[in-house]
Amino acid sequence: ALVVRHRMKSSGQWAKAIAILKELQEKCETPTGKLRQVVDAMTVEMHAGLASEGGSKLKMIISYVDNLPTGDEKGLFYALDLGGTNFRVLRVLLGGKEKHVIKQEFDEVSIPPHLMVGTSEALFDFIAAALAKFVATESEDVNLSSGRQRELGFTFSFPVRQSSIASGALVKWTKGFSIEDAVNLKTQKQLDKAVKHTGKLLPIRSVGQDVVGELSKALERVGLDMRVTALVNDTVGTLAGGRYSNPDVIAAVILGTGTNAAYVERAQAIPKWHGLLPKSGEMVINMEWGNFRSSHLPLTEYDQALDVESLNPGEQIFEKIISGMYLGEIVRRVLCRMAEEAAFFGDTVPPKLKIPFILRTPHMSAMHHDTSSDLKVVGSKLKDILEISNTSLKTRKVIVELCDIVATRGARLSAAGIIGILKKLGRDTVREGENQRSVIALDGGLFEHYKKFRDCMESTLNELLGEVSETVVVEHSNDGSGIGAALLAASHSQYLEIEES
Ligand code: BGC
Ligand code: MG
Repeated sequence: ALVVRHRMKSSGQWAKAIAILKELQEKCETPTGKLRQVVDAMTVEMHAGLASEGGSKLKMIISYVDNLPTGDEKGLFYALDLGGTNFRVLRVLLGGKEKHVIKQEFDEVSIPPHLMVGTSEALFDFIAAALAKFVATESEDVNLSSGRQRELGFTFSFPVRQSSIASGALVKWTKGFSIEDAVNLKTQKQLDKAVKHTGKLLPIRSVGQDVVGELSKALERVGLDMRVTALVNDTVGTLAGGRYSNPDVIAAVILGTGTNAAYVERAQAIPKWHGLLPKSGEMVINMEWGNFRSSHLPLTEYDQALDVESLNPGEQIFEKIISGMYLGEIVRRVLCRMAEEAAFFGDTVPPKLKIPFILRTPHMSAMHHDTSSDLKVVGSKLKDILEISNTSLKTRKVIVELCDIVATRGARLSAAGIIGILKKLGRDTVREGENQRSVIALDGGLFEHYKKFRDCMESTLNELLGEVSETVVVEHSNDGSGIGAALLAASHSQYLEIEES
């Protein structure tokens, strides 16, 4: 006899599922007027964050980068890019104005799991050893001029309170990293939660400690004579890398696992800066916009629950509705409710669906981009990841719609964030006699790989900019943060020739 595993949804259940979807859609709506409110709130917070330390949810961190690469940089420089389970080491030979990047080599190293829950020393020793190995592959033709110490730019993709261009203390972990040192996680349960949410955990005895100091000690321990001359956020690195190839770059945005932006501010527009006025008159600001929040943000019950259950409740709210770490998880939460309240996947709730973070944003993206008439990609993702089979086409269509709602909200809000920066700089309206181009360097997996997200973000920028959209350009800066850090190491080199005045 034929065994029917799932009863068909009754029409009442179907109506309930559609009602859940519609309710979500309404709550996630971002009409132009609402986006403008978000833009305004963003600029207000930018002002507040620049006015005083702790003046806003937006930390508006002073990066100490007041001279962006010009193209004149010369010599051999290293970079280390750390932000996840992998890190990258990079070597560039810069040839100055004429030649620019003569040679570029890199290596990607994954961090062994046992080191992710070990001590900070062990982790940094591992990184230092990998760096030493990479340095050993330096070929004759790129060799340093004798007597010179090798110099490194360090990209660290977390909020760091900088105390100079080459020092700073971690403010907090984001993107699901442990907020405290792993050894500070009191119970096994907390540790399990951290590992389960992220699959990764960095144990740098971190919050409050000088990140460069720790790295430098490790470099010494492995006998590598190298000096860290720049410590930068990935957004700042991307901005530097972007500026190197295009002088019109004024800001950089990362849309990846996490999200953030950096831009070039007038030093005089930073009341909390009490240092000397830089020669350039400019200062790069790391906004840490992931922590932005406003009553104008369209938040739902799913976002609230996600936040409460996260490792950093109450923090990184903007990031939690925009970035790659969370979009798939939001979709999972909605599907869970549909399964529980509307028997969306049959009589029982599929057990896998209850596992936090099991549905990753790349899976969501694959479903969202499914163009087959029977939505077979959606079907195969449901099966492979959630072990749900035999879904009807109608059901799969709802899932595509759900992905669209969640991605559209994130993309439109990222566009509003970018307009916030342009507005702060007075570049969001046409100004008489001025025709300055504003280029924004963009990077991150979400931007790079989630086409519908990117398209929606770009069309929303045009929608908000109107005729100014002609002068605003979004440019993909592929892995600009590593090379950007090397460039900043170069422009902050201890060997810079003294300029004649
Ligand atoms: C971090 C930022 C970083 C961004 C993108 C956020 O979670 O707080 O420092 O720039 O992710 O990597
Ligand atoms: Mg890339």
